[in-house]
Amino acid sequence: MIRLKNIHKTYHSPGRVSHALAGVDLHIRQGEVFGIIGRSGAGKSTLIRMLNLLEHPTQGEVWVGGQNITAMSDAQLRRFRHGVGMVFQHFNLLRSRTVLDNVCFPLRLTGMARREQLQRAYEVLELVGLTDHAAKYPRQLSGGQQQRVGIARALANRPELLLCDEATSALDPETTQSILRLLLDINSRLGITIVLITHGMDVIRSVCDRVAVIDAGFLVEVGDVLDVFLHP
Ligand code: ADP
Ligand code: ADP
Repeated sequence: MIRLKNIHKTYHSPGRVSHALAGVDLHIRQGEVFGIIGRSGAGKSTLIRMLNLLEHPTQGEVWVGGQNITAMSDAQLRRFRHGVGMVFQHFNLLRSRTVLDNVCFPLRLTGMARREQLQRAYEVLELVGLTDHAAKYPRQLSGGQQQRVGIARALANRPELLLCDEATSALDPETTQSILRLLLDINSRLGITIVLITHGMDVIRSVCDRVAVIDAGFLVEVGDVLDVFLHP
């Protein structure tokens, strides 16, 4: 489903050049839960943001669902991004909008009729168990509930791919487990491919089929979770 071909990403800031990714080749299969783990600064965010081209590679190609997204026009890319959901560490909800409006937000951007927006929004709110909270504001919810809203918003467009950027890193261990169970449920019930980045080994162990280990911009290992982490 996803292929990264020889991806390099170099950032130039005044007096400093950083090689965030150096020759990354990666294949992520349709329907799997794929984890990317590494230390802070290893290149995880840069890598996951390549999958919807929030970051463009300095060199290399990104293929998703048989399409070379690095060759797309801006208009094609906008359409492509509607089919990719993203979940963030700090939820990124709009504080002045209700839960319902937060979930409708990406649907409005596609020009969908209000009636259909609402139907979709209630569908995904039900999926994450928040139907009763639709009229509340984010500040009236717990962290775990806010992340459920973030997940509902990411699913509203019925994506085939869900990208999770440290989605549980701001949550306590118990809430982390319930969000991870929800992600697994989404993966198995809806068949959505999930790519997540984390610095937490426990996150990888509890939900991922396969994992890539990244260090200083290089992929140092890729494989089944059990194979990669059985090594001493
Ligand atoms: P991680 O997500 O694993 O913490 P990042 O992908 O955020 O790693 O960063 C990888 C490297 O690229 C780091 O050295 C970081 O400082 C650098 N980097 C990331 N984003 C930028 C940017 N916008 N400008 C300059 N350097 C950046
Ligand atoms: P339907 O075609 O009737 O929508 P599906 O088998 O496609 O039925 O989906 C089962 C349930 O999951 C429905 O409530 C559907 O709306 C919901 N659903 C399907 N795909 C997604 C998705 N990508 N994101 C969120 N909800 C979805």
